[in-house]
Amino acid sequence: PPGSMQSWPLLVTHALEYAARWHKDQKIVCKTVEGPVTISTYADLNQRAKLCALALQKLGVKPGDVVGTLAWNTTRHLEAWYGTMGIGGVTHTLNPRLSDADIAYIAGHGEDRLILVDATLLPVVARIAKELPLLQAVVVLTDRQHMPDHAAAAALSVPLLCYEQLLDEAAESGALGSFTWPRLHEDSPAGLCYTSGTTGNPKGVRYTHRSNFLHALITTAPDALALSASSTILMVVPMFHANSWGLNFSGVSSVRVVVPMFHANSWGLNFSGPMVGARLVLPGPYLDGENIYQLMHTFKVTVTAGVPTVWLNLLQHMDKHKLALRHLQRVCIAGSAPPRSMIQALEKHGVDVRHLWGMTELSPLGSLGTLTSGQIGDGLTHDDVISLKEGQGRPHLFCDMRLVDDEGKQLPNDGKAVGHLQVRGPIVVERYHKAAAPAVDDQGWFMTGDVASIDEHGMMRIADRSKDVIKSGGEWISSIALENACMGHPKVLEAAVVGIPDEKWGERPLLVVVPHAHVAGDEALKRELLAYMAEHPAVARYAAPDDVAFVPEIPHNATGKVSKLSLRMMFQHYKRP
Ligand code: ADP
Repeated sequence: PPGSMQSWPLLVTHALEYAARWHKDQKIVCKTVEGPVTISTYADLNQRAKLCALALQKLGVKPGDVVGTLAWNTTRHLEAWYGTMGIGGVTHTLNPRLSDADIAYIAGHGEDRLILVDATLLPVVARIAKELPLLQAVVVLTDRQHMPDHAAAAALSVPLLCYEQLLDEAAESGALGSFTWPRLHEDSPAGLCYTSGTTGNPKGVRYTHRSNFLHALITTAPDALALSASSTILMVVPMFHANSWGLNFSGVSSVRVVVPMFHANSWGLNFSGPMVGARLVLPGPYLDGENIYQLMHTFKVTVTAGVPTVWLNLLQHMDKHKLALRHLQRVCIAGSAPPRSMIQALEKHGVDVRHLWGMTELSPLGSLGTLTSGQIGDGLTHDDVISLKEGQGRPHLFCDMRLVDDEGKQLPNDGKAVGHLQVRGPIVVERYHKAAAPAVDDQGWFMTGDVASIDEHGMMRIADRSKDVIKSGGEWISSIALENACMGHPKVLEAAVVGIPDEKWGERPLLVVVPHAHVAGDEALKRELLAYMAEHPAVARYAAPDDVAFVPEIPHNATGKVSKLSLRMMFQHYKRP
């Protein structure tokens, strides 16, 4: 006979209902696009998400329909996530930092029926709307008072609607009293997020309720973000970033996290916050060092998560003004490898750095960089701990991992072999949106495109993306290792490394450096950096760069990572002096 336990579908609305019922007074702080800070609760979030769901239904949204959002991390955006997913719709987070052409391609390929947009981002939608034949209306995430003028509406070929007005009408209809979240199948699609498309057109990953739920649940674990009802999360990772890291579902009580919702599922934070009843702090569009600091300080943020660039800005601001963050306990870093100097600087402020690795195709988190009791018990020095934290961590419960060589043969987990990293599990993509073939082999292994090593304790270290690794005289040189070593030099603000063609070696690394404001990028500094790199313990002799180029700024892509593609274009005709 079957087991006799209840069969509950794992739906993200369960996280919201839980938070609204058992953490109903927990606060959600939001720095709104319009300017003022608003404070609401999980009970408000649930009620307004239901009103949003009623409004979407009235606009004709049916299960499976895709609703695009082009918005910063705000309460309205969060409500819209739940309002859409809760009735079986698919939230499609569009990243405002992409080009118009990319946004038009992604919204077209995703078949977005509606787009919910912040008033400040409406011009983007106005420019691309005519390329979206399925688009039926555009909803501005604001109130009547802040609605854009008639000229904006006239420029659109579809109706321009006001979010708060739609919610008012839903409230007046009286339908809220009898509304309950439908019991959907847990494998129903819930979210759609596109990869950044550095190798061709962006590819869509369709998350399910179940994959979001499991992913968010694992991000709350002590070895992950360690979220609880006593956390306050600053949601820096944009909601348009990989499902907001699941926080929308797990942390609604006192964790405060910063992850824009448009970043790879917002790293699940939209779900993990509510799952534990953490307090949420939503920064809106204000992601610069000063604003991030102010929000963290004022609202006593304890946990946050984001890409290294955000922390670079925060640290610069704190150093310049000699500031501290007394309440901040943990900063989780993923998206690209944080330089050693960044880990050290944050830890000096008394913050526990959690280094994670992931990608859009993994919901997005795949590994967690916390230490084991065995490692801690080994009497490690502070330097040893920092070195361990430079690694990307061990796979979590829902993400199996292995290394293979070019022929697909499995490599040992000995900490030395470097190969292609493959993953599989219930939070890993199976097939890209509308793709004819699966994205995985017949055993479910997904090729991540990263090259890595794994040691006997399961600690994984990313060497590089396979397309960024520099192939020099038969050796592989990790651009990440060189960047991190160089960022430790006190005169360097930011560094990136790309391979440039070389007659003798095939490719050689070029060190591209932005010096600190008061430092001249001259021949003397070049010699100093080359000598520093040649002597650096983390840099093998064959890997030490032989040339440096100084630039005023390093290009970053739409998710805040160094754009190696743009850098390679910048230096495609570069000749070594
Ligand atoms: P996301 O939007 O979640 O950052 P992407 O799919 O855009 O995901 O990028 C995923 C890629 O980013 C990974 O394949 C890897 O190359 C890189 N990456 C993510 N986290 C790290 C990390 N901690 N260290 C090094 N590289 C990372």
